[in-house]
Amino acid sequence: QSQELSQVRIDYHAALQALVEDGTRMVCTGRMHTDRICRFESLCYSTEAEEFVFFHSNSSVMLPNLGSRRFQPALLDLSSVEDHNTQYFNFVELPAAALKFMPKPVFVPDVALITNRFNPDNLMHVFHDDLLPIYYTMQQFPDLDQESRLFFMEGWSEGLHFDLYKILSNKQPLLKEQLKTLGRLLCFTKSYVGLSKITTWYQYGFVQPQGPKANILVSGNEIRQFTKFMMEKLNVSLEESSSEEYIIVFSRTINRLILNEAELILALAQEFQMKTITVSLEDHSFSDIVRLISNASMLVSMHGAQLVMSLFLPRGATVVELFPYAINPEHYTPYKTLATLPGMDLQYIAWQNTDRENTVTYPDRPWDQGGIAHLDKVEQERIIKSKEVPRHLCCRNPDWLFRAYQDTKVDIPSLIQVIRQTVKSKPGPKKQKWTSGLYPGKVRDAKCQASVQGTSEAKLAVSWQIPWNLKYLKVREVKYEVWIQEQGENTYMPYILSHQNHTFSENIKPFTIYLVWIRCIFNKNLLGPFADVLLCST
Ligand code: UDP
Repeated sequence: QSQELSQVRIDYHAALQALVEDGTRMVCTGRMHTDRICRFESLCYSTEAEEFVFFHSNSSVMLPNLGSRRFQPALLDLSSVEDHNTQYFNFVELPAAALKFMPKPVFVPDVALITNRFNPDNLMHVFHDDLLPIYYTMQQFPDLDQESRLFFMEGWSEGLHFDLYKILSNKQPLLKEQLKTLGRLLCFTKSYVGLSKITTWYQYGFVQPQGPKANILVSGNEIRQFTKFMMEKLNVSLEESSSEEYIIVFSRTINRLILNEAELILALAQEFQMKTITVSLEDHSFSDIVRLISNASMLVSMHGAQLVMSLFLPRGATVVELFPYAINPEHYTPYKTLATLPGMDLQYIAWQNTDRENTVTYPDRPWDQGGIAHLDKVEQERIIKSKEVPRHLCCRNPDWLFRAYQDTKVDIPSLIQVIRQTVKSKPGPKKQKWTSGLYPGKVRDAKCQASVQGTSEAKLAVSWQIPWNLKYLKVREVKYEVWIQEQGENTYMPYILSHQNHTFSENIKPFTIYLVWIRCIFNKNLLGPFADVLLCST
């Protein structure tokens, strides 16, 4: 490994002198530990103490300078999972003069991204917590280019999907355990610490039951740019339309099985008149799965991490997620949330086994595979009798694990019925161009003219011009929303209008000041901003 680090030659003595004289320099973005990413020059790491070290000198910089708030609870989250107490980053401080008494530093010449993977053996976690966030953190900082190097500090070994992490940069990622072989004191010439959470869509239930994140900031567009990058690196080319349409059953082979898979495949093929194939992580290479999924019309799978692969489905495809007995699909929605992100353009369908006869439980397995034999008899009885897993926190809830690791005999008619409710004709990629969903700008040159008729009646003629961007767009339907609010009142009268002017006479009083708010709406649900409020006196 050490040869690798020396690819970029650096003048050791100059580097050491710079470190002693300039110390560590840190400037961060983000206001809280949960949204902070820091850029460092000369951040060091003691592989003996397993601590990062900040060296103070006359030239060192520490922004934000939080004082002891740096420990409340941490400077930043090292993984993309929000505020998880095993994922905190901090450093210890030393005067640069202490370097005289320390092991000789080994300098890391590559620009480094220092971060934690959250659960590198689970494919959902790999994509959602690591690959997408790393990819977009690298997009955020231009010097995190293909020549930069990833450092994973969570302490796991490579894990099952290390090849995927290797795609993100041209340099081999390094793990915490490998750092020891490089030296006792490592100093990163230039590094970024932390990970952007901007692309994550799900919270796993550490503080409240799992569910979509409250404020999702990613759309299908960014997801698909990431998958395009991955596919190029995996050498999977996007075949264009032409070829045959097909359905994929993504099966699990170790647990949470579909017991009548052959029957299911036949039924799907017959119902939709399409070739139907099975894939599994155990029997197919990752590239092959990506190649197959990226051209599929429908993906059918048990709830589980393999469903994150619907990331690679073409627009217009359908995701069918199967839930074992007693597991309410509404309570476990990482893949539903993904499929229904704006611009993902996937159809999502959930099916649940509601028939106790069709489920196979494994009470005698180890607890982490859903076994309950370690619990007392009353508790076991309760779990076995229960018809629905109650809402729970991550990650060791026995009700959940017991039900999550059931095998299921899928009731074919009921499954076909729920799919048919959504997929009316043939499923599959729509050839039509999907509307991109651009929002209107403000309406322009809004004006009002009042006329008073007698002592109790008045009229308000309001007109405006189209938003500036409309003249460059083809929009199916353009409407305007106008709110008329009497000054000083909390309420307003809303109107939806098709033209650029309207004369309001209902409820308009003479000698009154009205505030008029106008915005444009494209295609029913793309609401633009309100123009500056108009003040109109009758
Ligand atoms: N896995 C698999 N086949 C199986 C069981 C699991 O490919 O029969 C994969 C699964 O996709 C995930 C990892 O093994 O990447 C861990 O599975 P687990 O059941 O722990 O998690 P879940 O799928 O419920 O998220």
